[in-house]
Amino acid sequence: MNKLTKIIATIGPSSENKEVIEKLIKEGVDVFRFNFKHNTVDWHEKILNKVISSSEKIKKNIATLIDLQGPEVRLKILKNLDKIELFKGKRLIVGEDIEFSHKEVLKKIKNDQKIFVDDGAFSFRSLWSGKKLILESEKNGFLKDRKTANFPGVNFDFPSLTVRDLDGVRLACREKMDFIALSFVRSKKDIQDLKKEIKKYEFYPKIIAKIETEKAIKNIDEILDEADGVMVARGDMGIEIPIEQVPYYQKMIIKKAKEKNKFVITATQMLKSMVSFLIPTRAEVSDVANACYDETDAVMLSEETAGGKYPVETVKKMKEIILFNENKFPKKIEINFERFMEKEEIIAKNLVDIINLSREKSKSIDAVIVFTETGKTARVISSFRPHLPIIAVVPNKNIALSLMVCYGIYPVVYSEDKGKEITLSSIEKVIDKIKKIGFSFKNTLVIHGDFWRVKGKISVMRFYNF
Ligand code: PEP
Repeated sequence: MNKLTKIIATIGPSSENKEVIEKLIKEGVDVFRFNFKHNTVDWHEKILNKVISSSEKIKKNIATLIDLQGPEVRLKILKNLDKIELFKGKRLIVGEDIEFSHKEVLKKIKNDQKIFVDDGAFSFRSLWSGKKLILESEKNGFLKDRKTANFPGVNFDFPSLTVRDLDGVRLACREKMDFIALSFVRSKKDIQDLKKEIKKYEFYPKIIAKIETEKAIKNIDEILDEADGVMVARGDMGIEIPIEQVPYYQKMIIKKAKEKNKFVITATQMLKSMVSFLIPTRAEVSDVANACYDETDAVMLSEETAGGKYPVETVKKMKEIILFNENKFPKKIEINFERFMEKEEIIAKNLVDIINLSREKSKSIDAVIVFTETGKTARVISSFRPHLPIIAVVPNKNIALSLMVCYGIYPVVYSEDKGKEITLSSIEKVIDKIKKIGFSFKNTLVIHGDFWRVKGKISVMRFYNF
């Protein structure tokens, strides 16, 4: 059975070998996330190639996503150490023991200011001694290198992309990655700056704005208008704003994204205890299920698959939680056809008849097949969350992979018959392809225009039994 909510897994030391990648794909990963804040360009390129060859071997569409640092501050450990032992009262000197990824931070740090690191696992107080900045630890434990530092309430005006991010954009465009996510987005300008950079390569991956700051929450409407999708990045969000507010904003962002026909990813700590244990907590299981009930497009694993002990078991568990809970959704299609038509500026033939017919028959439909040249119509249908698989018939693999993050969408490439009329025989050809990838449906709603890949209107809706 195919799930509707998609799974994104972050690649790291626990999942970088080919056997693990293949198992993760078989267990239900749809998109692999490459966290560009870690590792070298060569490492990312090497692992990216492993993902692509594994997906070809398994014959499953797998998309790739690069996650850029953007105006996110990281704390680097100096003296060639990869971790540092902390205890309450231990003092670290900036420039000698540690440094920040953005030097400009120092100008904004005042005396006795609270600084959080590694999603709040560590906290410090700042102390200026002449020109020297000292951070005094409030916690015990081992702090690892390059963890995120948060300064709640402080607004930094760094550029949208770091120098290293530019290498990330070049890599993503050269390797034709499907998604570029930008951390710590503040307003639509950060997205516009990223788009300008991408344009140089004449390749257009989908852009994801990570929503994790108070400023991004305030500017959510303009950010949603500018980006292709958003990520509710709950790790940093839970430090940048009071932690009890995170569930409220998760629901608010998912709702707005659906209304604006943008995809939305719910991320971080979803099955965090599985980093070390085989069984997740009840609260974590509820969190994944609740994200499905919120109708997120995708759920994301970070440390669980990047550095955890049980990456494969975690994905398997996530899929089981998704499948059980999705199965409880009412199996009906509730497309608001008037809104659909208005959104797509479609004047369908016999519109009224089609709408009435659809409403009546929709009760028994178990899949939607949509012929879509750019993928947009499939995304519009997905945004209504029909609780049914949506088979997007698309002209090429790039478009197919760009849809892999979207709720319910399973793309099928149909590159032949360009410009030809879409007939029952074209539908049958597509259905053959669908069967080959393991889907079996009975009653489908098929939506298409008159001619394949000729710009025009969606004009035909048929009901098809197979
Ligand atoms: C987050 O903060 O929730 C997140 C996804 O970002 P990162 O893992 O890059 O800190």
